[in-house]
Amino acid sequence: MILRDKLFINGQWASPSSRESIDVHNAGTGEVMGKVPAGTEKDIEAAVAAARAAFDGWSATPAAKRAEYLQKISDGLKARAAELGSTIAQEVGMPIKLAGRIQAGLPIANFANYSKLLNDYKFEERVGNSLVVRESVGVVGAITPWNYPLHQIALKVAPALAAGCTVVLKPSEVAPFNAFILAEVVEAAGLPKGVFNLVTGFGPAAGEALVKHPQVDMISFTGSTRAGKRISEVAAQTVKRVALELGGKSASVILEDADLAAAVKGTVNGCYLNSGQTCTALTRMLVPASKYEEAAKLAVETAKGFTLGDPMSETTRLGPLSSQMQMDRVRDYIKKGIAEGAELLAGGADKPEGLLGGYFVKPTIFGKVKNSMAIAQEEIFGPVLSIIPYQDEEEAVRIANDSPYGLAGAVWSGDDARAQKVARRIRAGQIDINGGAFNMSAPFGGFKQSGHGREAGVYGLEEFLEYKSMQLKG
Ligand code: NAD
Repeated sequence: MILRDKLFINGQWASPSSRESIDVHNAGTGEVMGKVPAGTEKDIEAAVAAARAAFDGWSATPAAKRAEYLQKISDGLKARAAELGSTIAQEVGMPIKLAGRIQAGLPIANFANYSKLLNDYKFEERVGNSLVVRESVGVVGAITPWNYPLHQIALKVAPALAAGCTVVLKPSEVAPFNAFILAEVVEAAGLPKGVFNLVTGFGPAAGEALVKHPQVDMISFTGSTRAGKRISEVAAQTVKRVALELGGKSASVILEDADLAAAVKGTVNGCYLNSGQTCTALTRMLVPASKYEEAAKLAVETAKGFTLGDPMSETTRLGPLSSQMQMDRVRDYIKKGIAEGAELLAGGADKPEGLLGGYFVKPTIFGKVKNSMAIAQEEIFGPVLSIIPYQDEEEAVRIANDSPYGLAGAVWSGDDARAQKVARRIRAGQIDINGGAFNMSAPFGGFKQSGHGREAGVYGLEEFLEYKSMQLKG
């Protein structure tokens, strides 16, 4: 059992104002793996006061010095990488090998990346008779989800600190232990007190208290579109800057001249990563009607390679979902897909054999899906792929864009120029062409109801900066 009973406020491990705690479950076994404090408005109040008091000093600290701290945090996380990988594998259910590479690896890289970036960033320029300077936005409230818990945290905390902002972090109550490791690393790195604060708790209590606090200048939120809408409403009362990274229902458009085997395999992999609990998951596979049978066969074969099992085992390719609620939700969607008349080609809503305890769902594929069905319109957040046949390129683009979301997508074609042309017509924030690799310095974020604002690289840093122009005489 991991028992965390303190919050990190003003550079110290402080007792929470209430005795209430939150049970955290091990995704692979379903058992309680530990507890964290259910922070309250009072705890948020103390954390915001600390962040506010630390702001003037931190924002005036030379960028090179802030860069040093960021590199120290990256080094500190690196020294605890194995522990981070195994903690997150248990909290979230991602297979341990992948968890080490992605869940621990990306935050380490992001902190180091912002350290480097900061050393080269130009915070001011001359425009005519004006000196335009970029200043820290202020106190930032960071609210994060459970699916890539430390990665989502790093994408906010690293650039916010780099920009000279101070931070109050309210991580997901489903996967909070990794955030405590980060707080210990920050403490060991010797950051001035109050620059980084951690308050765990439930969204409607601790989360909303942070969003409505008048001393918080900006909320950077990653999570569901539902919570994002609520946060926008609450934040509007104090006219805060709000950045939202929300859900997705991304289309993988396979054109008829694509390498079909590679495209289908790439799409299924993109759909099942982290058991489908990835905001950019390629959950809609659009295939030419003439190639439908072949594509469906290839997808089912690929799905068979996703051995379900214990996330702590090195041979597991598909872990469980992160919580009972998530498992029930995904199974309900599978039942809904069947009821809507989609063809179940693989998987299904029943419990996989021999896997008791954890939150397991079979890798599932639906064929002959109509884009109007709920399984094609709504974010399922599980290992469920919908194959949608189309007649021509025009129809493929229309279907890809027929979604309330616009986070990501993919295009596959034997002709790169054609693929790029189609990618430009898709209303989404990032499109992978012919399996192009993830780039942590490229802007990440959504169109439409997938949110607004961009994270990662220099684009992520600029989210946390304000412009000020000074008009000079002569
Ligand atoms: P969630 O919205 O339930 O919770 C996210 C965070 O918001 C948690 O910390 C939660 O406590 C908090 N929260 C919930 N209600 C709140 C409220 N009223 N006020 C303040 N805070 C509140 O989402 P989740 O289930 O943790 O994560 C899954 C969702 O996140 C999916 O929809 C997924 O697509 C999305 N996501 C998006 C991205 C992206 O970058 N676009 C990345 C990862 C996940």
